[in-house]
This record gives sequence, C-alpha cells and structure tokens, in this order.
Amino acid sequence: MKCVACGATFDTNVTSVCRICGLPEISYLGDQEEAFRAMKPTIDACRNELLSKLSVGVVSYRWADRNGVLEQSGEEKRVIGAGPELSKGTVWLGEEFARKPEAEEIEIRTFIRLNGTDTERTLRVSNLKEAKLQQVGAEIGIRDGLVYRLALRNGAGERYSDWTPMFD
Ligand SMILES: [Zn+2]
Repeated sequence: MKCVACGATFDTNVTSVCRICGLPEISYLGDQEEAFRAMKPTIDACRNELLSKLSVGVVSYRWADRNGVLEQSGEEKRVIGAGPELSKGTVWLGEEFARKPEAEEIEIRTFIRLNGTDTERTLRVSNLKEAKLQQVGAEIGIRDGLVYRLALRNGAGERYSDWTPMFD
C-alpha cells in the first residue's frame, strides 16, 4: 500500500502503520471520498509531524590544485533547509558553486535526513551554461505523498529537476 500522507509504500500484511510517518490504518464505514475527508486531519497531522523532523541537503565536492592537476580533495554535506520551510517554497543555499560548463545535465547528490539517518538520491537538473557561479535550492511539494525537487540559479536563469518522491 502507498501511504497517502507521505508516499512511502508498506506491506499491509506486515504492519497497519506507515513506517515513515506513522499514519495508522483506519477502519471506516462509507465510501472512499467520505473516508478521505474524515481522515484528512490525521493525514495532515502525520505529514506535518514528518516534515518537522526532516531536512534536505546536497553533497558538494571540493577540488584542489596538486601541482597543476585538479584533484578531488573531499566532499561535504550541506543542509539546504528543514521540511516546514521547504514546503512553503524554494529555499536557496547562500553559498555559490562552480558550474560544469560542458554538460547538458548535472547530476546532484541529495540527501533526506530523518531521525539522524540520511537517505541519498541523485537528481538531474538541466545545466545553466552561462559562465557564472550558481546557487542550489530545494523545495518540497505534496503530490500523492511528499515529493521534492532541486533548483539551480545564477543571474542568467533558473532550472529545476523533476518532482521526485521523497520516500519509496
Ligand atoms: Zn506515511
């Protein structure tokens, strides 16, 4: 079953409670629309509780000059924002990143941090080719569960990844 609050799938033979957001299975007499209306406060509460516990970030790479050759010298995780603020619109990291000039698309490693555990997912954003540093942003939406997308911007434009489910 796919959870209507967060979008995670779970096996109803094993558990009647969503493993991600805790939405319980509720027995209800009536049609689906009516049940959904009756359950909406519970669905919203589970989703908001989940949003308040999660944050989204990106993994960036550091490069260093080693005798004229650029070598990757490390990677860093940067939190873009917490669930509640990301669900109100795009939040941008203050820092600017170098662009990858030749690529049509950029693959960006993201992580969803929930209860101290990071789940990584790579999102693709079409490249801004103008020779400027760019900022990265993120946003959370509600589409049949929780979805998120990444954004890139510089003075010349703005690009977005596809909306992607946050939980499997
Ligand atoms: Zn759920």
